[in-house]
Amino acid sequence: MAETVSPDRMTNPLDVAANLAAVRVRIEKAAADCGRDPADVYLVAVSKTHDADRIRLALEAGHLLFGENRVQEAQGKWPMLKQAFPAAKLHLIGHLQTNKAKEAVALFDVIETLDRPKLAKALAREMDKSGIQRACYVQVNTGEEPQKGGIAPGDADDFIAACRGEFGLPVEGLMCIPPFDEEPAPHFALLKKIADRNGLGVLSMGMSADFEIGVQFGATHVRVGTAIFGQRGQT
Ligand SMILES: *Cc1c(COP(=O)(O)O)cnc(C)c1O
Repeated sequence: MAETVSPDRMTNPLDVAANLAAVRVRIEKAAADCGRDPADVYLVAVSKTHDADRIRLALEAGHLLFGENRVQEAQGKWPMLKQAFPAAKLHLIGHLQTNKAKEAVALFDVIETLDRPKLAKALAREMDKSGIQRACYVQVNTGEEPQKGGIAPGDADDFIAACRGEFGLPVEGLMCIPPFDEEPAPHFALLKKIADRNGLGVLSMGMSADFEIGVQFGATHVRVGTAIFGQRGQT
């Protein structure tokens, strides 16, 4: 069973291209196992903490979809990389401060961490000002962890409605990060339920340790770092 294999044992720190291919095979298998089309599952390669040379290995292998969790770090790497690989797309998957909304709208193609009215307002204003529309996913704090970002599940419907209505944001989907020490499946199921009742087709859920389970529960985007780039802080 793939779930019992630790992601780093599958990962060759020297060969990003091979790791990417291996993760794709695992996504294909997970999709096939539940009767889904693997083409409906996008692989967001999470390149946080890895330097531009390492990210380039993935780009040169033909991978074009990436995630970063910090605006400032991404600003140091991605303008250059996007210039070299204009088709590359970048998702913001970490907490966004309202005072970084302008930079985020300029650099990221998708903001996955929309989670509070103040941020919705700031993003709407920046998209208006710049004339650049960026797809947003609402982050839901499915485990209701106080230290974690995301709107509480009970507030999600109202917040999604406000983002679309009052703020006019292009909300395309939902994202969650289940509690580290819990089974992810109930969290993924909850996110899918909230998405379905709000007519949202995009679900960003699943990381190196549990992306197959994400696929099983309907993920359209899995966010995988370690299984592609190796352990952070070791390369
Ligand atoms: C770092 C990160 C990931 C990737 O985690 P891995 O376990 O390295 O695959 C996914 N999503 C978010 C929000 C992250 O911050």
